[in-house]
Amino acid sequence: MAWDFETEPEFQEKLDWMNEFVRNEVEPLDLVIRNVWNVADPIRNELIKPLQDVVRAKGLWACNLGPELGGAGYGQLKLALMNEILGRTVAGPVVFGSQAPDSGNAEILAHYGTPELKERYLEPLLRNEIVSAYSMTEPTGGSDPTNFKTKAVLDGDEWVITGEKWFSSHANLADFIIVLAVTDPDAEPHKNSSMFVLARDTPGVEIIRGIAPWGHPDSDATHCYVRYNDVRIPASNILGPRGAGFAVAQTRLGGGRVHHAMRAVGVAQKAYDMMVERSVSRSTKNGSLSSRQLIQEMIADSWIEIEQYRLLVMRTAWRIDKYKDYLKVRKDIAAVKAVMPIMLRSVVSRSIQVHGSIGISTEMSLGKWLIESYGLGLADGATEIHKLNLARELLKGAVPAPDVFPSQHLLRLRAAAVEKYGDVLGPDVDLPSPGGSFG
Ligand SMILES: Cc1cc2nc3c(=O)[nH]c(=O)nc-3n(C[C@H](O)[C@H](O)[C@H](O)COP(=O)(O)OP(=O)(O)OC[C@H]3O[C@@H](n4cnc5c(N)ncnc54)[C@H](O)[C@@H]3O)c2cc1C
Repeated sequence: MAWDFETEPEFQEKLDWMNEFVRNEVEPLDLVIRNVWNVADPIRNELIKPLQDVVRAKGLWACNLGPELGGAGYGQLKLALMNEILGRTVAGPVVFGSQAPDSGNAEILAHYGTPELKERYLEPLLRNEIVSAYSMTEPTGGSDPTNFKTKAVLDGDEWVITGEKWFSSHANLADFIIVLAVTDPDAEPHKNSSMFVLARDTPGVEIIRGIAPWGHPDSDATHCYVRYNDVRIPASNILGPRGAGFAVAQTRLGGGRVHHAMRAVGVAQKAYDMMVERSVSRSTKNGSLSSRQLIQEMIADSWIEIEQYRLLVMRTAWRIDKYKDYLKVRKDIAAVKAVMPIMLRSVVSRSIQVHGSIGISTEMSLGKWLIESYGLGLADGATEIHKLNLARELLKGAVPAPDVFPSQHLLRLRAAAVEKYGDVLGPDVDLPSPGGSFG
């Protein structure tokens, strides 16, 4: 029997250490640092760098990366358990060297960058000395990448990139940006684009504005509307083969979605803990909120939803480790991505309700998490698109009924059963009505 829900003791020790460290040293940072990604902020550096050194000394730095890139090369199960803890904080992934979008961008550079590009961008990125951005979505809509317009044209030994991108996170802080652009407009849609890397200060890169999610001050807006005005970059800045941009894009997403999922579990658990605390702290009509059945139902439902989702994510992580082939696990990953915002929104909404008015205020984190749940339903592909992909996978090989009636039509099944047991039943047996055999 290989089904096992236990963590091996040596790794559990690491998780226990992480749990203490994140709660005591990392969570408070969220309240004093404006933007934990911003490596140009001296206060951020003074507070975060010593903690990153502690994490490195513990051997837990950038564990999502393979050993050749200085990571531990952990499988997805271990990474999932770590991300559950990191999800409690905004700063956590940065302190542990696994923050998006840098982690995914590092994977692309590691796979497809030339030695010069790796030296210039990947190495300082892995040391968290610089920031990166990923520029794929366009203002006309992100869900249908075959409709993207940003183009790259080869001119001598340079690519010239022209177009607009939308919601490129951290582009205003970034040293470099990874950009998807159409290079072969006449090729079939999924083979018409290529991936490029460019320095943010290349002439022609224009940050039109940052866009802030609701509840974040505009001054901290880092999801950028970017215009590429005939930006010239060396021909060697292409990442992967020409026309393989969509395949290259996949490099950054598979494991990352599971990490996001377990971080969402971490946030949901925090919202749940807050709900439980509030319910036993607050009284109404001579009893605590927790003594009221309507509140108890909210607590029970929330616990069930978190546990159900956590099991789905852990099983998906287990399958990724087992098969080592994302194509075999794509439906699991799509399911994980599709349920993530719903689970988080549902638990956070109940926690807000149990908190009463303070729950919607800026004095608690719950409202921010509610908006984040919507962000999770859009970033890295909208929920609806993941459901479409999941359904497509599920319907592969589905067989239609043999005729106008369903294969499970009881009259059909009964006729087959009568034929099978004809020797025992005999010709005059009094058969139960098909729908009433249980009385
Ligand atoms: C927090 C956050 C960070 C992000 N960071 C980045 C980043 O760093 N880089 C980057 O390139 N992008 C980034 N994005 C953008 C993200 O990838 C897009 O939001 C996403 O791809 C959806 O595109 P859209 O916002 O244009 O919505 P649209 O594509 O306009 O979709 C709107 C709605 O229509 C639905 N819809 C679309 N097509 C169909 C269909 N065929 N059937 C049914 N429903 C459909 C969608 O599911 C969605 O609900 C980020 C988004 C968020 C929220």
